Amino acid sequence: MNLRNRISLCAATIILFGSLATAPASYTLIWTWGMNDHPEWCEAFKKAGFNSLVTAIPRKVMTERWWLNSASLATTDAVLAEAARTQMRAYFQIPLGMGPGTQIGRRTVTAAGFTEPLLACPLNQEFWDDYLIPAVMTIARKSLDHPALKGVILDTEQYYGKERSGAINEHYCFCDTCFGGFLKKIGTKESLPVAAGRKPWLEAAGKEADYWKYLETCAQKQVDKLVDAIKDITPNFEIHFYIYQPTWYYRGLLKGLARLGHPVLVCDERSYSGFLKGWSQEARAGVLELNPKAVWSPGFYTTALSPRMMRANVRKALETVGSYWIYNNTVPFPPDQLKALE
Ligand SMILES: [Zn+2]
Repeated sequence: MNLRNRISLCAATIILFGSLATAPASYTLIWTWGMNDHPEWCEAFKKAGFNSLVTAIPRKVMTERWWLNSASLATTDAVLAEAARTQMRAYFQIPLGMGPGTQIGRRTVTAAGFTEPLLACPLNQEFWDDYLIPAVMTIARKSLDHPALKGVILDTEQYYGKERSGAINEHYCFCDTCFGGFLKKIGTKESLPVAAGRKPWLEAAGKEADYWKYLETCAQKQVDKLVDAIKDITPNFEIHFYIYQPTWYYRGLLKGLARLGHPVLVCDERSYSGFLKGWSQEARAGVLELNPKAVWSPGFYTTALSPRMMRANVRKALETVGSYWIYNNTVPFPPDQLKALE
C-alpha cells in the first residue's frame, strides 16, 4: 500500500468512526433569506449539495422576547417538516448582536471608552441567564418534537454597534464589571480608571494579555452554564457559532463548547469573497488547537462571487476542509448560483 492509499484508509477510518456520532463529519450549510417562507426550497438545496440549513427568528417577533412566544416559533414548523422530509439538518439562528437580547443587562463599553447603547456586555449575567440560555433551551425543547431541528448557530456579529459591528474582539469589553473584576482578580488597590482610560491603563501596566485571558475564562464559565442547561434537555443538541476571530471571546466559546459530545461548527465569514487564499489552513489550525472537535467552515457570499467562482470555491473547500457554508440575502436564492452548484 503506497502512502496515498494509507492516508485514504486512515481518512476512511476516521470518517467511519465519525459517522457513529450523531453529527455529520461534513457540514454543507445554506444560510439564506426567505427560508422560513419557502419550505419547498429544501429539495432544490439538497440537490445542490447542501445537508444543512439555517432558519431565522421570525421577523415579526424581532422586537419581542421571541423565545417565550410559541405561536411565532410555530411559523418555523413548515420548514422544519420539509427539512425532515428531505433529510436536511436545520439550525436555528440565535442573534447576539441584534434584536431583543441586546436590550438585556448592562451595556458594553468599547476600547475607546464608549458605552454602546444597543449592545449588551457579552459577559453580563442577565444577558446569559435571561436571554441566551433560555433562548437556546427553548429551541432544544422544540427539537424534541422536530427531528430535523438539530441545534442552534449563535450569531455573534455585533450588528447594533454604533462605533462598529463585526466579531467580538479586543474592541470589547471595558465595562465596569469586566474591568473592575479584573482589577479585583489581580489584587490591585488602584481605583477603577475612567472608561476611556482603561485600555491605556492596561498598556501602561503591560497587562493586556492578562486581561484577555481573564475575559476568556469568564466567557468559558458562561458557556459551561449553557452546556449544562442543554445537556439536561437533550444531550445531542448541537451548538455552533458564526463569525470567528482568534480573540478572547471565541477562545472561551470554543473551549467551553468542547464539553459537548458533537463537533462545533465554526462559520467563518472572512472567506466571503473567495477561499482560495493562503490563510485558511492557518485559521483552521487555530480553531482545532482550542477545540479538537471543531469543524472550521469557510463561508461564501452569493453577491461577492460569480456562479463560476462559487462553484470553484465550494470544490476547493470540500477538497481541503470538507465543509462550507453559503450566505445569501436575496429572495429568491439566485437561480444561476443554484444551478452552478448542482
Ligand atoms: Zn463587560
